[in-house]
Amino acid sequence: MSTSAQTARWLRLAAAAMAEHRDELTALDAAIGDADHGVNMHRGFQAVVARLDETQDAGSIARGAAMALISTVGGAAGPLYGTFFMRFAASVGAKHEFTAAELAAAFRAGLDGLAQRGKAQAGEKTILDALAPACAALEADLANGEPLSDALLGAAEAARQGVLATIPLVATKGRASYLGERSRGHQDPGATSAYLIVKAAADAFAGE
Ligand code: ADP
Ligand code: MG
Repeated sequence: MSTSAQTARWLRLAAAAMAEHRDELTALDAAIGDADHGVNMHRGFQAVVARLDETQDAGSIARGAAMALISTVGGAAGPLYGTFFMRFAASVGAKHEFTAAELAAAFRAGLDGLAQRGKAQAGEKTILDALAPACAALEADLANGEPLSDALLGAAEAARQGVLATIPLVATKGRASYLGERSRGHQDPGATSAYLIVKAAADAFAGE
């Protein structure tokens, strides 16, 4: 079983990762955007941690994160990740304990919500290029009977590969799409922050 305490831990670890990688995310965004992604994600996750209430159920914790991100992150990523956590919250519900299948379903719901909100799909050099392969790997490994901790490590590795696969892509969504062909050859900042979020989940939900 996964727990609401692990959900809170996930958000804290994600916040720590955004702090650690803030300058790297901003440098990536400087190349194909407006150099604010690291600052945006760091500010957003600081707000997530500030309003974190460990005593709440997992759905309420994720909903709180969504509201913090939506209200503090200027730029495309705020509403997109906000939608991810809002849909995650609705899917997991007011539970303090949930199964691996319920966790995977919540990831899938979050991913679908984000894709709908951004009117994007994998292959467009966005957040989805890390999140979609991560979600698929998580589902496949759980279907094969692997323990959640291994499936989440597989998801993080799939996200990492997805990040690297954004380098040769041409952006067709968001600010980077204004560059057209010149967006080719650069790693996508949003995919990179999505990898950090999946990696944080692997660390937080490890060892059921
Ligand atoms: P902004 O582009 O408004 O400055 P950020 O710099 O915080 O916002 O975020 C940029 C990232 O957002 C991009 O690297 C990309 O991964 C992601 N992104 C932009 N548009 C979309 C979209 N429609 N769907 C999914 N992700 C997107
Ligand atoms: Mg930006």
